[in-house]
Amino acid sequence: MKDREPVITIDGPAGAGKGTVARRLAERLGFQLLDTGAMYRAVALSVARAGLAESGVAALDGHLQKVEVSIVDGQVLLGDEDVGALIRTPELGQLTSRLSAIPAVREKLTPLQRRAAGAGGVVLEGRDTGTVVCPDADVKFYLTASLEARARRRHAELLALGYGVTLEAVREDVRVRDRQDSGRTLAPLRKAPDAIEVDTTDLTIDQVVDRLAAMVEQRRCCTRS
Ligand code: C5P
Repeated sequence: MKDREPVITIDGPAGAGKGTVARRLAERLGFQLLDTGAMYRAVALSVARAGLAESGVAALDGHLQKVEVSIVDGQVLLGDEDVGALIRTPELGQLTSRLSAIPAVREKLTPLQRRAAGAGGVVLEGRDTGTVVCPDADVKFYLTASLEARARRRHAELLALGYGVTLEAVREDVRVRDRQDSGRTLAPLRKAPDAIEVDTTDLTIDQVVDRLAAMVEQRRCCTRS
């Protein structure tokens, strides 16, 4: 490990538990949390609001130059508007997945994410944080789970947020996003070769967080001089 607090990345498909696990791990370690998916979702919200969801890349380019996305103290900001409560819908998830395959969108967000991770002491969560954003991260995790477990978790999350969606619709949403996120040419969802894979299908959130925290501690004490 380097002369700063570690950078930890957690990647994986929708519903693998990354969001909750990353938040809890960051809390336990006293690290910052960077939810990179929330940044992509905020861009997608701005694109939808501008009426550009079906537009070509040229129109998006102009829009992207004006959009300001940031995460400050865990709040996802578009300009200075907190959009955290508006970005979790399945519809926006689909648009986000489509837009995040476009180079200009990734070129906008990847440098911001790298900069946020630069000082260390951060847990990044997303699809490409261990492969593209921070390939030199100190500890990388890749969370997976069966499609059924992931669909059930996403369904429960959405119900808790007040969205009346069916399990079937969520399963289909997760399946389509998996295919798009893994199949795109640019920064596809992949396990980094040096990432530790954890299948969360039969584990509770507590068990996953305990396991990841133990692995981080093990790496820290083994590399401390
Ligand atoms: O993690 P979350 O479900 O909020 O991510 C929404 C979408 O954002 C993903 O389906 C993916 O298309 C995109 N994303 C990405 N790269 C990341 C994080 C999210 O392409 N690092």
